[in-house]
Amino acid sequence: MTGEFDLIERIRARVLSRDDVRLGIGDDAAVLAVPAGLHLVVAMDTLNAGVHFPAETTAADIGWKALAVNLSDLAAMGAVPAWCTVSLSLSMPEADARWVDAFLDGFDALARMHAVALVGGDTTRGPLSICVTVHGFVAPGRALQRGAACAGDDIWVSGTPGDAAGALRQWRGGGAIDPDLRARLDRPSPRLALGDALLGIAHAAIDVSDGLLADLGHIARASGLAAVIELDDVPASPALRAAFDADVRHQLQATGGDDYELCFTAPPALADVVRQAARDAGTPVARIGRMGKGAGVSARLAGAPWAPPGLGWDHFAVP
Ligand code: ADP
Ligand code: MG
Repeated sequence: MTGEFDLIERIRARVLSRDDVRLGIGDDAAVLAVPAGLHLVVAMDTLNAGVHFPAETTAADIGWKALAVNLSDLAAMGAVPAWCTVSLSLSMPEADARWVDAFLDGFDALARMHAVALVGGDTTRGPLSICVTVHGFVAPGRALQRGAACAGDDIWVSGTPGDAAGALRQWRGGGAIDPDLRARLDRPSPRLALGDALLGIAHAAIDVSDGLLADLGHIARASGLAAVIELDDVPASPALRAAFDADVRHQLQATGGDDYELCFTAPPALADVVRQAARDAGTPVARIGRMGKGAGVSARLAGAPWAPPGLGWDHFAVP
């Protein structure tokens, strides 16, 4: 059993430092130097055991994912991350130094990849839950917003949607989980380089946490437009193709959450510019549909309308 202050000290001893952190972990609050001329971009996401990750997920994977889902929100704004805070609610088996060290293995590995400094947090006892806030910067007026799509825009998506949902489906089915799919569920890659590269090119953007159609629906609603995607054009990973027949795969790709890919819109005239930006960012993208006048989001498959069984995961949906 390790005391709260010992746990905090273990965290403090490991975290990355940055020059703009004038006062980090250890005082009543952090003091941070915001660069002149930039706007601060802030996001927060909570992961609850059994809700946002299978209860047997390793501490290191939980650490990675808790930060990744937050960095993904900054990526969707085109912001560059700088700092984060983390609130750890730990129950008995977790509240020991070994669990926190393993949690930090995952958290810190991702933080260092993106030069993010952990500057403070809170440590309490309770059901296992991790709440992270991230702070980043964007030039004034440049952030990629959900409501900025235009009629006629192409709809794009990064990566291979459906992989994380495929892993979850295999997990719920009780059988073996494909390691490639599992990696995409446990260790999503926040698409920060792509978000940054799309500034001034993309109109609207969102990260796919609840499902491609559900999240694209947010862009459509906020922009006052309709969205139509072609399921045939949504890239599928070899692992997803191998694990599921086409019907299930299409459902996973259209409605499965947890991929943390970017879905964005851009004028068709900029398609080559989008492709070049994606190459520069080292992130594959595919053009999957079109924004138009009207409302709502719909999918087509082999030239015919495709009806989704549901529009993705909604915490407050009545079953
Ligand atoms: P206070 O009682 O003033 O809120 P705490 O005892 O909660 O202070 O925290 C002491 C210091 O440790 C603060 O700087 C806080 O930001 C930091 N801290 C606490 N828990 C964490 C954590 N899980 N991760 C990072 N920093 C933490
Ligand atoms: Mg406190």
